[in-house]
Amino acid sequence: MIYMDNAATTRMHPSVLQEMLPFMNDRFGNPSGKYVIAQSAKHRVEEARATIAATINALPEEIYFTSGGTESDNWAVKMVSDECRGGHIITSKIEHKAILETCGYLEKKGVNVTRISPDKDGLISAESVGRNIRRDTCLISVMAANNEVGTIQPIKEIGEIAAKHGVMFHTDAVQAYTNIPIDVKRYNINLMSVSAHKICGPKGVGFLYIEKGMLKTPLISGGGQELGLRSGTENVAGIVGLAKAAQIAYDNMAVRTMKEVKMRDYMISRILNEIEDTRLNGHTKERLPNNINVSFIDANGAKLIYMLDKQGICASAGSACSSASATVSHVLTAIGLEDDVARGTVRFSINEKTTKREIDYVVSCLKQNVNILRNVK
Ligand code: PLP
Repeated sequence: MIYMDNAATTRMHPSVLQEMLPFMNDRFGNPSGKYVIAQSAKHRVEEARATIAATINALPEEIYFTSGGTESDNWAVKMVSDECRGGHIITSKIEHKAILETCGYLEKKGVNVTRISPDKDGLISAESVGRNIRRDTCLISVMAANNEVGTIQPIKEIGEIAAKHGVMFHTDAVQAYTNIPIDVKRYNINLMSVSAHKICGPKGVGFLYIEKGMLKTPLISGGGQELGLRSGTENVAGIVGLAKAAQIAYDNMAVRTMKEVKMRDYMISRILNEIEDTRLNGHTKERLPNNINVSFIDANGAKLIYMLDKQGICASAGSACSSASATVSHVLTAIGLEDDVARGTVRFSINEKTTKREIDYVVSCLKQNVNILRNVK
């Protein structure tokens, strides 16, 4: 199998699994307990919190463990809106559904939402965010990097504008975390969402960074875990796995991303140069190191994915998170692709282990398949 769908999910790192196993075995204690195995679980949860905090220059008490990116996004947007009693939210047209659907839900309850359009490369300009700030704006939520076209957003500049106007800034960093350095203090980020399964960690766990003192309303009420804001017995194994994955990813970030960029650019140039009528989507430079998003004009992307699958290659047509819907991806529409071009779009997301040989095989399959699809039309 050649796995090129790492933006959808990643294979767990073997040392992450090793780190997690004891907490599903002998060290099964509930962190709220007062005896040794319980306290040892609590200790590891707090260690994990500190490890993660250090990766983004946050305080340990600013890291709140959640079930992943979707929950973190929902929490950030709903709770800020609740605490400022409605008001106005600025977001973008290319956010993940976890943000867009949440904003849609709040809109029905009377909250005003402005959705900023990206440019043709998928970039949300800080200037357009600034232009849309109103007196009642309480939150700006713009993702750090897009999950489909891979464009990295100017979050430092957006954070500066938000801080200047005294507006809270949330960023969905599910795709960006461990791929680009993020310093929440320097970038004026008040809230940030992260998911473990995108960084070679386990599924069903993530965190929301909440700047100290920024939110007071609990997301889930109960036994008072997560400083009283998100009750429920901690997912100890998941949390320990998340921290281990984050640590591994940060320890070799420079080397890993350099390798990926080299392979990414090799694959992009082979596709664009050797297959006619193709276009690269997303920004050429401000781009996630592992993202290759290409439209094969006059070829059906869904059929292409099916053919690639038969050849042992996993990739994705648009975003895997929304692949159940037959509609064209909202991100591709927002960057201005015509429906028929959008329907011929495939996202490949490689990892540090992707080799030139694998890419050569994928490109040769693409050449063959695209040719067949264009001829049967
Ligand atoms: N935000 C972005 C940008 C994503 O890419 C995803 C998943 O694809 C999510 C949020 C949702 O994360 P999770 O799968 O952890 O709920």
